[in-house]
Amino acid sequence: MSYLKQLSMAALAVGMAGPVAAQEETFITIGTGGVTGVYYPTGGAICRLVNRGRADHGIRCSVESTGGSVFNVNAIRQGQLDFGVAQSDVQSQAYNGEGQFDEAFEGLRAVFSVHPEPFTVVARADAGIESFDDLQGKRVNIGNPGSGQRVLMERLMEAKGWTTGDFALASELQAAEQSQALCDNNIDAMVYSVGHPSGSIQEATTACDSVLVEVNGPEVQQLVEENGYYRTATIPGGMYRGNDEDTETFGVGATFVTSDAVSEDVVYEVTRAVFENIDQFRSLHPAFENLDPEQMANDGLSAPLHAGAQRYFEEAGLLQE
Ligand code: GLU
Repeated sequence: MSYLKQLSMAALAVGMAGPVAAQEETFITIGTGGVTGVYYPTGGAICRLVNRGRADHGIRCSVESTGGSVFNVNAIRQGQLDFGVAQSDVQSQAYNGEGQFDEAFEGLRAVFSVHPEPFTVVARADAGIESFDDLQGKRVNIGNPGSGQRVLMERLMEAKGWTTGDFALASELQAAEQSQALCDNNIDAMVYSVGHPSGSIQEATTACDSVLVEVNGPEVQQLVEENGYYRTATIPGGMYRGNDEDTETFGVGATFVTSDAVSEDVVYEVTRAVFENIDQFRSLHPAFENLDPEQMANDGLSAPLHAGAQRYFEEAGLLQE
């Protein structure tokens, strides 16, 4: 082989290896929730859009099923997760060191908000539960520690002056286990703060006869009036088998969070991947159908915006004054 030919082959080899070697891969993990909830597909949708641009930005995104909001925020704080989905109330309480967060997580950063999450109570149709107050004396899954529904349930119980002793049984099953427990008649009711429609509530209403229960009254009204992260919510009738009427309740919003330890460039690219493909993002889960980019960039975020998200939203003109 001629010297020249050898040289050009070497150049070719370098040229081919160049783009791969030059781009360092960055691995990010998103903490979600139970696999039959909406956080898990939310993380999946975000990763799908991020990974599509991997050749350009070098970020490789993966999701983890977790115990939910509180778990995710704590894991981000410890540097075990880069991003997570968390309820708007949990975001606020963690940043300010309130509720079950003894210490303020000052490095917590908001990226964007996602879908609404009504506090959803599902009871066996044969359990004689027509209102939230009827849960007294029943077998109720109050949510696993680490979940957002557990936070909301405890807040409601406190407002009503209840303890776990007010239930015949207060179980702590994981979100993905509770529909089967309900249909196996191991519990009378389950609670879940979750987007709709969700696989979990679909399972609970199709595998056996069960009903959505209203959550309202003076204590709920007061909670909504006194806390900006709560709002009244309606689960539309006709969404689940055997539940043709609207169900009035209250709820929070799902938000996407990270920490100030994650680089501006990474958060910028993740935000851009979602917002530049917002139509596709909306099509990835029915709970995303009505998402509005401007609301996602501005509403329900109580921790400061991460600098990378801020940069993207400013470029895209999405921030409201
Ligand atoms: N809101 C629940 C939580 O914070 C999770 C809901 C879901 O997984 O969709 O734990």
